[in-house]
Amino acid sequence: MFSKILIANRGEIALRIIRACRELGIETVVVYSEADRNASYIELADEAICIGPASPAQSYLNIPAIISAAEVADVDAIHPGYGFLAENAHFAQICLDCGIAFIGPRPESMRMLGDKVAARELAKKAHVPVVPGSDGQIKDEKEAIKLANKIGYPVIVKAAAGGGGRGMRVAHNDISLRNAFATARAEAESAFKDGTVYLEKYIIEPRHVEVQIMADKSGNALHFFERDCSIQRRHQKLIEESPCPILDERTREELCKAALKVIKEAKYENAATVEFLLDRNKKFYFIEVNTRIQVEHPVTEMVTGIDLIKMQLRVAGGQNINLKQRDITHSGVAIECRINAEDPDRNFAPCPGKVDKFILPGGMGVRVDTHIYQGAVVTPYYDSMIAKLIVHRPTREEAIITMKRALSEFRIGPIKTTIPACFKILSHNMYLQNKVDTSFIEQHLS
Ligand code: ADP
Repeated sequence: MFSKILIANRGEIALRIIRACRELGIETVVVYSEADRNASYIELADEAICIGPASPAQSYLNIPAIISAAEVADVDAIHPGYGFLAENAHFAQICLDCGIAFIGPRPESMRMLGDKVAARELAKKAHVPVVPGSDGQIKDEKEAIKLANKIGYPVIVKAAAGGGGRGMRVAHNDISLRNAFATARAEAESAFKDGTVYLEKYIIEPRHVEVQIMADKSGNALHFFERDCSIQRRHQKLIEESPCPILDERTREELCKAALKVIKEAKYENAATVEFLLDRNKKFYFIEVNTRIQVEHPVTEMVTGIDLIKMQLRVAGGQNINLKQRDITHSGVAIECRINAEDPDRNFAPCPGKVDKFILPGGMGVRVDTHIYQGAVVTPYYDSMIAKLIVHRPTREEAIITMKRALSEFRIGPIKTTIPACFKILSHNMYLQNKVDTSFIEQHLS
C-alpha cells in the first residue's frame, strides 16, 4: 500500500481524496495554483506545493510542474481526481516512467477507451448493444449522409475524442447534417486536437444510465449498480440518483452484466463508469466508458456503503478486491445535486465572486462534499461546481423531501448558484413521477 500520494487536482475532489487517505493512513501532498492558495484543503493536507499561475495550462495541466512536485515530495503515487489530467494517457505513462504509480487505469486502456470509436468497437466485440451508427469513423459528408439515410434521422455527429458534451451535433435532415458534420469536426479539432468524428442514431428522449465498476490487477471486476443522470443541461449532468427509478430488476442485472463485459474485454484496472442510453422501451445502448472516478460517485457510495476512493487507492496499491459480487448490495435511494456558481436566471452564466454567506445544510441523511467556506473566493478560472449535496433515504419520496429541505437550508451568497434550479426540478411533477429524460431541463425549465 502507498505511504504518501500527490493529488493532482483541486476543489472538492482534492478534499475528498485527502479524507480517504487520512482514513487509510496515507500522507497527502496537494498541488495548487496561485489562484487556489487560500483553499481550505491545503490546511488539511500534509504538504502543499504551488505549481504555477491560475491558468490551468500553467498549473493543473502542467505535467512537468506536477511531476517535479511529486519528485520533490517523494510520493509513491498520483491521484488525478476527475477533469484536468485524469483521462490523459500521456500523463499516466509519464507517471509510470518516473516510477510513480498512477491511481487509475493503465495508459493503454485509457487510450483505447478514451477513443469513443474504439470503445464502440470494443463493446460490439463484447456483444454489448451500442447505439446504431457508423462502423468506425466517418470520413466525409457524403458518407455521413448515406449512413443517416440508412439508419434514419435524427442522427448525432460525435467526436471520437469528445468529452464534457463538446464536439456533438444533432441533425434532422441532409442539410443540417452537412452543417453538423462540419461544426462537430471543427469543435473537436480545436478542443481535442483530433477532428475524428462518428455518427449515431439520435435516441429520442433517452435516460442516461451508467454503471460504476471497480477492477483490480488480478482481473476481478465488480459492478456497484447504476446511477441515473438524466437531469442534464447541454449534455452536462446536474442531478444524479441511484438506483435508476424506472429499471426493473431484470434489466438492471442485464445492464450491470453488459458493463462488466465491456470492462473485462478491455482488461481494465481501477474505477470506471460504463455509460448507456435507455430508450423509451427501456432498451439500453452503450455510449462510452469514463476511465476515472466521477463527480457523481457519492450516490453509489451512499446506496452501497462502499468508499470508492479508498477502493481506488487499495486497488492501485496492488491489493485485490476482497468482495464477491453478491456481497455488494444497495439499499435506499441517494440523490446528488451539483451546486454550481452559476446564475440560472442568466442562462446559467458562471457567477464567480466572494462567498460572504455560507450556511451548510445537515441533519439526517445529508452529506455535503465541498471545499468552500465563508469568505472563500470562487475564481473564474476553473469549473463552476462549488459543492455537491447528497441525500440518502429509504425511499425516493423521502429522499426528495430531504433534498428539498437541505436545498432550502443551504445559503450561499451573494453569488448565484444552481440551488433554486435544483429545487424547481425536484418540485416538478414530471420528476416526481419519473417521467424525465435528458431533454427535461431544456423542455421544461428554460
Ligand atoms: P461526453 O463524453 O461529451 O459527456 P457522451 O457520449 O457521454 O458525451 O454523451 C453525453 C450526453 O449526450 C448523453 O448523456 C446524452 O444526453 C447525450 N447523447 C449522447 N449520444 C446520444 C445519442 N446517440 N442520442 C441521444 N442523446 C445522446
